[in-house]
Amino acid sequence: MAETTKPRPVTMDKLVSLCKRRGFIFQSSEIYGGLGGAWDYGPLGVELKRNIKDAWWRAIVQERDDMVGLDAAILMNPRTWEASGHVQHFTDPMIDCRACKRRFRADDVEGETCPSCGAKGQLTEARMFNLMFKTFVGPVEEEAAVVYLRPETAQGIFVNFQNVLTTSRKKLPFGIAQVGKAFRNEITPGNFTFRSREF
Ligand SMILES: [Zn+2]
Repeated sequence: MAETTKPRPVTMDKLVSLCKRRGFIFQSSEIYGGLGGAWDYGPLGVELKRNIKDAWWRAIVQERDDMVGLDAAILMNPRTWEASGHVQHFTDPMIDCRACKRRFRADDVEGETCPSCGAKGQLTEARMFNLMFKTFVGPVEEEAAVVYLRPETAQGIFVNFQNVLTTSRKKLPFGIAQVGKAFRNEITPGNFTFRSREF
C-alpha cells in the first residue's frame, strides 16, 4: 500500500505567493512599498481575467435576447449617490486610537483596549465613515466640485435606463449588464483580492 502523505494546508499566504511567482497577481506599486487594497494583474493574470470577463459577457449578454450591455463612466454626477443613499448610508462605524493614530472598524474592537498598540482608554467613540472615494472635478477643491469614484457599477445602469429603453428596442422584462471597476475606501482591506479598494 502506498504511503499516505499528509496533505499540506493551502493558506492564503501560500496562494498569494504562488500567484506572484506564476505572474498572476502582484501587489500594486510593490517597489515603493505597495499600496494596501490594490493589486496588479501580471501577464497570466490579465489573460485569466479577460477570459472570465469574456465568458461572462458571452453567456450573459451576447447569447441572450433579453440582455444588453453598457459601459458607463466611473465618475458620475454626485446627485446619483445622494439619490441612491450612498452619501448618507454607505458608511461603517469607525473607532480611532488616540495613542497610535490607527483606525478600526467598530466591530473589530472589543472593550477599551486598542487592538493594535494595546493602549487602554485611548479609543474614540464610534463615528460613521463613508466608504466612497472622494475627489474633485476641475481645478478648485471645493464642496461644489466633489465627485466620487463609483462604489458599484449598478448606478450607471439605473441612470441610463431610459436611454437604453428608447434605443435598444427592448420590452420589459430585460436586463442591462456592465463590467468595470469600482472603488471602496475599505478601512481594513484584506483577504488578498477579496476585500480590495479598487476592484
Ligand atoms: Zn492604538
